[in-house]
Amino acid sequence: MADLLTLKGVYKRFGETEVLSDVNLSLKAGEVLVIIGPSGCGKSTLLKTINALEAIDEGEIIFDGVNIGDKRADKRHARKEIGMVFQNYDLFPHMNVIDNITLGPIKVLKTRRAEAEEKAMTLLQRVGLADKKNAYPRELSGGQKQRVAIVRALAMNPRVMLFDEITASIDPEMVREVLDCLLELAKEGMTMIVVTHEMGFAKAIADRLIFMDAGKIVEEGLPKQFFESPKSDRAKRFLSRFDFNL
Ligand code: ADP
Ligand code: MG
Repeated sequence: MADLLTLKGVYKRFGETEVLSDVNLSLKAGEVLVIIGPSGCGKSTLLKTINALEAIDEGEIIFDGVNIGDKRADKRHARKEIGMVFQNYDLFPHMNVIDNITLGPIKVLKTRRAEAEEKAMTLLQRVGLADKKNAYPRELSGGQKQRVAIVRALAMNPRVMLFDEITASIDPEMVREVLDCLLELAKEGMTMIVVTHEMGFAKAIADRLIFMDAGKIVEEGLPKQFFESPKSDRAKRFLSRFDFNL
């Protein structure tokens, strides 16, 4: 099958610092790509360039046949079709759950409110939060907020979902319920890129895995291969810092 997303020779600099350095990757529809690597290696920046939230300095980002890395490209299509969930649940604090979820579909997709709410409720049911539809973000736990953030992104009918360490700021006992949502989505065939520090989860969900260090892709392959016999010293050192059973 053709690639849904391709990055070719992508460079990103912040002033003198090269944050992404010749990044090449591709993603097919239905694939789950996991990205791991030490803090500061460029994972978040990479996701933001894919979502057209950060401009790139060199290279191409081809989504659905269009080079959205081009400064002149119309990025609305990509922003609509590529959903993203961040580490710090970015729900609107003054809006309840249902309004948080339906805002995008109503404003951007021009969906009728009744239809948007119906879809929101179906999605909320799937993540076990239908009873929270009128709650405000401050009344939810971290895990619940992240599940709402996932639903909010899904409500836009994205073709690709990007997840940036979405369990990093929540209590350990809430992590499972959020990761289960992602496993469920993967099972349903959602195309996704997942940045995570949860190594057991990475191994379970990844079709393919990328290890980054200092803005570069150092290793790429099957998760089993990577965890059992990482090739580079950098990956070995990185993995040795985690205490996990695979
Ligand atoms: P990761 O998500 O892997 O921890 P980031 O992509 O957040 O890494 O950051 C990669 C590098 O880019 C870091 O050195 C960070 O300090 C730097 N960086 C990220 N965003 C900016 C920015 N807006 N301005 C300047 N430097 C940035
Ligand atoms: Mg990050």
